[in-house]
Amino acid sequence: SLSDKLDKAFHVLKGHGQITEVNVAETLKEVRRALVDADVNFKTAKEFTNTVKEKALGQNVLKSLKPNQLMVKIVKDELTEMMGGDAEGIDLSGSPSVILMSGLQGSGKTTFSGKLANFLKTKKSKNPLLVACDVYRPAAIDQLHVVGEQVGVEVFSNKEEKNPVTIAEAAIAHAKQNGHNVVILDTAGRLAVDEVMMNEISDIYKAVQPQETLFVVDAMTGQDAVNTAKAFNKVLDYDGVILTKLDGDTRGGAAISIKSVVNKPIKFIGTGEKMDAIDVFYPSRMADRILGMGDVVSLVERAQEQYDEEEARKIQKKIAKDKFGFDDFLKQIQQVKKMGSMKDLMGMIPGAGKMMKNMDIDDDAFKHIEAMIHSMTPLERENPTSINASRKKRISKGSGTSVQEVNQLLKQFTQMSKMMKMMQGGGGKKMMQMMKN
Ligand code: GDP
Ligand code: MG
Repeated sequence: SLSDKLDKAFHVLKGHGQITEVNVAETLKEVRRALVDADVNFKTAKEFTNTVKEKALGQNVLKSLKPNQLMVKIVKDELTEMMGGDAEGIDLSGSPSVILMSGLQGSGKTTFSGKLANFLKTKKSKNPLLVACDVYRPAAIDQLHVVGEQVGVEVFSNKEEKNPVTIAEAAIAHAKQNGHNVVILDTAGRLAVDEVMMNEISDIYKAVQPQETLFVVDAMTGQDAVNTAKAFNKVLDYDGVILTKLDGDTRGGAAISIKSVVNKPIKFIGTGEKMDAIDVFYPSRMADRILGMGDVVSLVERAQEQYDEEEARKIQKKIAKDKFGFDDFLKQIQQVKKMGSMKDLMGMIPGAGKMMKNMDIDDDAFKHIEAMIHSMTPLERENPTSINASRKKRISKGSGTSVQEVNQLLKQFTQMSKMMKMMQGGGGKKMMQMMKN
């Protein structure tokens, strides 16, 4: 599988201290081969590995990351980026919002229409209307009725009418009269891209001006999926792609190629024949799936979190505004615990370094501190001065510590906050340096 191949590719890097031109080239050759094997077209795969190479060579290898882990991270981020960055929704602003399905016969339009209707009804509290615009096969109309029944959504059809535009327009009028705020137009497809189908779908498109035109494609068809996506894109300016039949072992390569070739977002994926087998498309999850290395990736990400400058900056702001509370403190402790060394904590909590050294805090003490913070209410965490005698008692009871320990924690926290504030007055740059080391 692709994952195994990438795994092997990353193995090449193992044992090397840093990413160099030589070892990265070897790894990327493997990555490229793996992507091509997963139906990513060659040009895309090549562009992809070039970008990854640039990024990898420019990176400082983090202390806690091995080069192969860093490569996995770069590859994953880049895959995610290529498949569209953040997940994109669909436009439901119309009254009604018209959603037009397009795609070849057998791609999964009718099935997906039902899934989407179900999704919008149950997850978005919409009142959809399904419309049968396939005028060639009476069986297709029956199929939509079956689907509609399964999900409890009304189906609009007219077996006498042979013009899909007329049906679509009548359906929209019907929707307006009956309070349907979404209209899903299921259309006829053909076995291959041809003029009749393209003319028909663009006629419907022009007549009803849908809020959302979706191109449905079978992910199992691999490279053909990319070609079909391209052909439809020439005629129909669709808003998003639906990748169906991504259940089981279907390779995800089509997702990468389609996005990079037609530059349209993938919006949903179909993962089975049942009506609930629909998922919003998340590029990062797909990247995980393609890489099949979820654990490695999150491990790498965790390591990076510990160096998160953004977080440090946020804390800095809070200190300046006297808003640093126990929740922030807890977050710091937890980050450091992941890193495993108490000494590192000193670098991460601004100004706390010197104090902590004197306090000689060990791991057990940290457990107690965490327990005490967990026993505080959100308000107490935010505003530690509100913790009076009776609250102290409650906190000590809840955390299995003594009131004395609670007192000590509060005292230390107050001292620390003061210290941090002082330090900050002394210059932000120095602080940032401390937080990063
Ligand atoms: P249409 O011709 O584009 O309307 O395609 P259909 O909706 O009729 O689907 C064609 C076939 O693919 C049917 O047998 C569906 O059950 C099946 N199908 C559709 N979506 C999926 C999916 O996500 N996973 C699987 N395994 N089968 C699917
Ligand atoms: Mg159909």
